[in-house]
Amino acid sequence: MDLIKQRKLDAGLVSDLFPEVDGIVIHMTYLRKGSNPVIMLRTVNVFPTTYAYFNMDCMMRGCTDGGFDLTPVITEMVREHKKLKKGTLVCSGENADLVSDHANIAYEVTIKFNKRASKTP
Ligand SMILES: [Zn+2]
Repeated sequence: MDLIKQRKLDAGLVSDLFPEVDGIVIHMTYLRKGSNPVIMLRTVNVFPTTYAYFNMDCMMRGCTDGGFDLTPVITEMVREHKKLKKGTLVCSGENADLVSDHANIAYEVTIKFNKRASKTP
């Protein structure tokens, strides 16, 4: 079994981890250092049946073990019942040919909560 698949299984399903979440939409703009910074735009739709694995791959060639982990962002949003959050993340990957801030993303996360979210714990 490959590592990513194992990590997803370890993370568990969104419905198990965040039962109050109906869905999550993650908009990302991948940026790199340089004069033509936008690499790509990406939207990820997360459903209750999706694995709660929010580590997005770095798109830079040669970047090993990098990526953008949105797990802490989403975990905090769910805990605070926050519906929208924008921010940036810097790739944590390291490579001799790449500078440490070689890539980053601008993200916008929208969470839809179900009725259980309105109950106070
Ligand atoms: Zn990277």
